[in-house]
Amino acid sequence: MKAKLGLDVFKPAAEPHIRIRQGMEKDPRLKPAIRVCPAGLYSENERGEVILTIDGCLECGTCRLVCGTEILDWNYPPGGNGVQYRFG
Ligand code: SF4
Repeated sequence: MKAKLGLDVFKPAAEPHIRIRQGMEKDPRLKPAIRVCPAGLYSENERGEVILTIDGCLECGTCRLVCGTEILDWNYPPGGNGVQYRFG
């Protein structure tokens, strides 16, 4: 899996295209994102807050489906930014 992900190219946008809404970092509805994100971008810090590192996002939308839009502000990156898949 990691070898396949390593083929992809990411062009970060000026602003992150996914944000955890303010005050939702400890919400239990956010915790499943740690397990379901295929790129492993969600983690939990020592204070029990879920944090998101956006670089490497595959734009699959799984976190949005699982956590919901009350928890996540999820948008596709502006044109030309984000992931470029390289199949090989
Ligand atoms: S859209 Fe997919 S890859 Fe990006 S953070 Fe959500 S689950 Fe992870």
